Amino acid sequence: MKYIDTHCHLLFPYYDEDREEVLQKVNDELDLFIEIGGDLDNSQKVVDFIKNQPKAFGTVGIHPTDSEGFDINLIDKLEELAKNDKIVGIGETGLDFYWETNKQTQYKVFDAQVSIAEKLNKPLVLHIRDAYDEAYEFLKKSNLPSKLGVVHCFSDTWETAKKFLDLGFYLGFDGPITYPKNAELRKVVQQTPFERILPETDSPFLPPVPFRGKRNMPIYVKYVYEKIAEIKKIDIEELKSKLYFNTMSLFF
Ligand SMILES: [Zn+2]
Repeated sequence: MKYIDTHCHLLFPYYDEDREEVLQKVNDELDLFIEIGGDLDNSQKVVDFIKNQPKAFGTVGIHPTDSEGFDINLIDKLEELAKNDKIVGIGETGLDFYWETNKQTQYKVFDAQVSIAEKLNKPLVLHIRDAYDEAYEFLKKSNLPSKLGVVHCFSDTWETAKKFLDLGFYLGFDGPITYPKNAELRKVVQQTPFERILPETDSPFLPPVPFRGKRNMPIYVKYVYEKIAEIKKIDIEELKSKLYFNTMSLFF
């Protein structure tokens, strides 16, 4: 059994020079990967790209920091793209209050995507930054798809993690669990039940140790697996089959 990356952005310009080579490695070393949409244009590209990539699946969505540039009248276009068979989720969507931005617009675009997810019954891929409480309160009172979704690149306290786990969400873990200063986050990994963990890279961002400062790649998900295996004291092959099962359970 090989590795899985449930969150990457191989269509971003960071791979324009050598995308074919990167894909070759991904196809050699991974069982499957999920290419995540970031705005309407990018979501269209995801749909076109995954069509001819046997190991690729995708999501379509408007990233919270792109909400202001998004014309809400085009939401039907996103919904059309979301109906594609190889589109396995809606996102990344959510709330990001780290940047100076119009919060009301973020809520509106998030809400529209939650509705699509609920209507098509596809899970949500959530991007949450500096807004865990707000996103939690919002989700709690929303109509959600039956399989809910994943809090992508979870990076907050166990107290917060537990709230999302109690709602029924999965938690995605990425390179930051390998960073020396993130002992608190490793405790979250330790306490999160196996059946709710998903492996991610968020490539080209958040490279794990020993690639910090470089461009991330889906094949580096191996280091995320190794860290989870070390924290959970489990054999890597056993971990692979558990994370494969989780990916299948949520997205397929
Ligand atoms: Zn992402």
